[in-house]
Amino acid sequence: MKCCQCSSLAMYQVTVKNFPLCLDCYLKFSQIQQRELENHERMANFHMDEMSAVTGLPSLGPRFPARPLPVIVSGVRLNNISVNNSVVGTINTGSIGSVDQSISALVQCGAPNVAAAIKGLSEAVLQSSDLTPNQKNEIIESLSVLAKEAATPQDQRRNTVAAALLERATQITALANDVADICSKWWPVIAALFSGASNS
Ligand SMILES: [Zn+2]
Repeated sequence: MKCCQCSSLAMYQVTVKNFPLCLDCYLKFSQIQQRELENHERMANFHMDEMSAVTGLPSLGPRFPARPLPVIVSGVRLNNISVNNSVVGTINTGSIGSVDQSISALVQCGAPNVAAAIKGLSEAVLQSSDLTPNQKNEIIESLSVLAKEAATPQDQRRNTVAAALLERATQITALANDVADICSKWWPVIAALFSGASNS
């Protein structure tokens, strides 16, 4: 069964009308319900205080305690890059989201090999234990620009910018053993894209 809000597969049914919802949409739905519940709790506390104000007696009944602040893990939805939330951690999720969107664009504009290169590099870098969070952030940020440039028409690509980013990123990944295989496979694919274009 399809979700009634998007094209994903439904996993839950909600309200008396049994609307089918997928995992992501159910998450939204339950967040709204939690917020409504919280408002009811605050209203109940308010009424207790109001009664004590009217009667002049201290408010003796139990109160709903303040809710702890929500923990946002990473609100970014990824369609291509497959990584665990725990490895995303301190990495700029905006950059990861941007890389992910560019991968979709590359697939659509008929460059599946470049898309696979960007995807493979992103996943390897995010999962690497040899790279520091700062290094990962820098590479993912570079990949987000490179992926965007790769997805633009050849005559509009900023090859000089891309080449500089590429050089810096390959220098950083060269320090990490656990991404060496992936890097030797995929960096050349991206390098060829920008060097080839600058010669033409
Ligand atoms: Zn849905």
